[in-house]
Amino acid sequence: VRVGVDIGGTKTHAVALDETGRIVQQLRLPTGFGPEAVLAAAVRSVDALTGLTGLAAERFESIGVGVPGAVDHATGRVTHAVNLGLDDLDLGTELEARLGVLVRVENDVNAAAFGSFHRLGSPAGQPSDRSMAYLNLGTGLAAGLVLKGELWRGSRGAAGEIGHIPVDPHGPVCSCGQRGCLEMMASGSAVARQWPTSHPRPVEELFEAAAAGNVLALEVRRSLVENVAAAVRVLVLTVDVDFVVIGGGISSLGEPLLAAVRAVLASWAAESPFLASLELPERVAVVPVGFPAAAVGAALIGALGSGATMSGVR
Ligand SMILES: [Zn+2]
Repeated sequence: VRVGVDIGGTKTHAVALDETGRIVQQLRLPTGFGPEAVLAAAVRSVDALTGLTGLAAERFESIGVGVPGAVDHATGRVTHAVNLGLDDLDLGTELEARLGVLVRVENDVNAAAFGSFHRLGSPAGQPSDRSMAYLNLGTGLAAGLVLKGELWRGSRGAAGEIGHIPVDPHGPVCSCGQRGCLEMMASGSAVARQWPTSHPRPVEELFEAAAAGNVLALEVRRSLVENVAAAVRVLVLTVDVDFVVIGGGISSLGEPLLAAVRAVLASWAAESPFLASLELPERVAVVPVGFPAAAVGAALIGALGSGATMSGVR
């Protein structure tokens, strides 16, 4: 049994996978804020899985953790995880001390990329050398890359940070200091800025209002969908991956989001023989609703150490 823990801003999601990579147990609990709360949530979720599986933690083959922020995957150190109140924490070392077993730590978007690849990239359950980009549409926008079956982090861990590619020189100033970043156009925070609401699922409400003909909703949805399509185009034109998978909170919209993004890509193809030749609409998918991609990916990365690869997982 391999265990993966996805520490999110509000919820911590933990899974136990069997030797074929199938989810055999999973649970969610609140994360809390600050180093002690985050460590306690991770330990509690692993403890709960020992109870559910009847295995002591040292009997787990591996434990991996996905967490937002800048992660040194070699040491397990996490910095700048603002949503969790973590400025600088040796998460891997602290968890190993508390659990008594080796723990691998990975950035949550990279973990979700690897988990999505496991689910969608090798459907026959075989080691795969295909390539995939995972486009995470959460509060922000970022991508994770799996190239020839292996996670690609880049030379400084910044591979896939396409949310900070400026696309509008007159756009609002981004938290990164630049102006008009893609993340300011296509993300949960972008929708919150343009479509303020107290609805628990703002993007769902936005799509409903647009479908009912609300003029502002139509405009905000158009901007969101066009910029998501632009992110897909950036990913294919940069690394020419076999396919792009959309995940993150906004992807829970599922088919309506995918259909809208495909329609934009098709409209661009109609005007550009070059883009048409790339068959972008056919190369986009969404993470199946409810699939805990980051937790599954964390479990698989935990199994494989720093040189994450699909070989021999399944
Ligand atoms: Zn930015």
